Amino acid sequence: MRCAACRLRTARGFGWFDPRSLTSQPLAACSMRCMNALCRRWGVVDPDEHEIAAIAAASPMAGEYLESIGKTDLAVLTESEWLTLLEVIITAYQDELARQLDAGQHAAPRLPGSRR
Ligand SMILES: [Zn+2]
Repeated sequence: MRCAACRLRTARGFGWFDPRSLTSQPLAACSMRCMNALCRRWGVVDPDEHEIAAIAAASPMAGEYLESIGKTDLAVLTESEWLTLLEVIITAYQDELARQLDAGQHAAPRLPGSRR
């Protein structure tokens, strides 16, 4: 079952339901981070400012890796080099996204009916 928030990873033991609708079918999530996203009714269909910043942060890491192996033409990478490049990008993206979200500088969107 796919995570209802990121729609990318496998849901693992996390579930959220909107207490206002009292559904018996909780939305499955892959992590506390995605469950929090569901709870705040964010969803992550379009990249938010944190994800865009995480992509930007991953870019120089990809460049550093390519520089370290002396290759800039992706077509000549070995399979191992390609997989390492992907790992470098994904790890840098996730690390920056976690840093951004853990910094707590993201206000939860207003819930319907709230006055905040
Ligand atoms: Zn997820």
